[in-house]
Amino acid sequence: MSTPTPPVDHPLVSSDSAISLTGTDLHLSFGDNHVLRGVDIQVDAGTTTTVIGPSGSGKSTLLRVLNRLHEPQQGDILIDGRSVLGDNPDELRRRIGMVFQQFNLFPHKTVAQNVALAPRKLRGLSKDEAHQLALTQLDAVGLKHKADVRPSTLSGGQQQRVAIARALAMKPEIMFFDEATSALDPELVKGVLALMAELSTEGMTMIVVTHEMGYARDVADNVVFMDEGSVVETGAPEKLFEDAQSDRLRAFLSQVL
Ligand code: ADP
Ligand code: MG
Repeated sequence: MSTPTPPVDHPLVSSDSAISLTGTDLHLSFGDNHVLRGVDIQVDAGTTTTVIGPSGSGKSTLLRVLNRLHEPQQGDILIDGRSVLGDNPDELRRRIGMVFQQFNLFPHKTVAQNVALAPRKLRGLSKDEAHQLALTQLDAVGLKHKADVRPSTLSGGQQQRVAIARALAMKPEIMFFDEATSALDPELVKGVLALMAELSTEGMTMIVVTHEMGYARDVADNVVFMDEGSVVETGAPEKLFEDAQSDRLRAFLSQVL
């Protein structure tokens, strides 16, 4: 299958303002369900951290706490070493681009309109500026030729690349991916993973929750293994995948590899 690689003169990331993100001792309970039990995570500027672990271990909740869709009940969140818990949560969310399993593109808008919408509303760009920006971001993900069609005419993989372009149009300083390829047909996964790898190579700071162990191993600078709301092991991919220290990680890897 041909995987369109974005041309080098059309970079995905237009600024080099990479930031670091730190979560310390993060706790969150839903009622008496203690979902995050003191999670520490350190993502250095310009690096990619993949988060792996069984279903229900708290991976999605961790992302939602790190962008304050849920407020942590204990612990701290720091960007470049400064706590952001005192800031307006909307401001933090604007600095973080999110890509989910479901693309959630507006069906009655064109591809370009989907990408231009948030920059117009939240970054105050004019209609023309936002449209030009949308075309630039679509070009970077190899889909400029689809600018004027409706999302439903695209494959799932193309729709997810539009969702990535939409997130990048907000000029995020860090990107979160939550199982971005889980809803895709197997033959479409590769193109989206290639785009995510490109983004990582361009120096975007990223946290990627994924079941794609090949990606988790090859692209990550650091891997976090979560189980039952805790980080059980963390480290370089070679270390985690080749030399698991805990029975829980060994058991998990034996199921997914
Ligand atoms: P993962 O992404 O690793 O599969 P989640 O973070 O989605 O795990 O879920 C972890 C636990 O938190 C699960 O027990 C889930 O039922 C619970 N949970 C997640 N979100 C909510 C919510 N909004 N309200 C109540 N419980 C939730
Ligand atoms: Mg999840």
